[in-house]
Amino acid sequence: MSERIEIIRGDITRSDADAIANAANTSLLGGGGVDGAIHRAAGPRLLEECRTLHGCETGKAKITRGYNLKAKYVLHTPGPVWHGGGHGEAEKLAGCYRSCLALASEYGCKTVDFPSISTGVYGYPVDKAARVALSAIAGYLAEHPEIERVRMVCFDEGTKRAYEAALAEL
Ligand code: ADP
Repeated sequence: MSERIEIIRGDITRSDADAIANAANTSLLGGGGVDGAIHRAAGPRLLEECRTLHGCETGKAKITRGYNLKAKYVLHTPGPVWHGGGHGEAEKLAGCYRSCLALASEYGCKTVDFPSISTGVYGYPVDKAARVALSAIAGYLAEHPEIERVRMVCFDEGTKRAYEAALAEL
């Protein structure tokens, strides 16, 4: 299944995948980083729809339309804040990827793009996050042939290198 996983450098707000994931916070009411960028690119109707969802637990996901984005759907998932690794961070981070992909399957998406969840403001070390993310994605893909392609859209070169290294280890 790792041939269905790609690592690219880019800006996820320009993605043409069926669905993109958003590294949201539990309020789902917008924030900084990739969350702010997705809300700006999608337009104000995204926040209107998010208000109807009443938040989301860390490690789970909720879906909205994509509005002005090329992507048809946004999968909003609050990643864990890094507290040293002994507070269930890895299980919650894996849950983010699995929950997003389960929603993507349910809504008939064949292609899904992810940003590097939790490795910005939430402080998750990117090497560790990359291993968790890619094993969760590969595990899901092994059971779900309906998802044809998952891309990690990395905003900077260091993040891209970390995901490439983790993919090579799968
Ligand atoms: P978190 O709060 O989950 O840590 P952040 O948005 O702070 O989320 O960062 C997550 C990752 O998203 C970081 O690697 C950051 O560089 C990256 N990022 C920021 N803007 C974009 C974007 N437009 N496209 C893709 N990745 C982005």
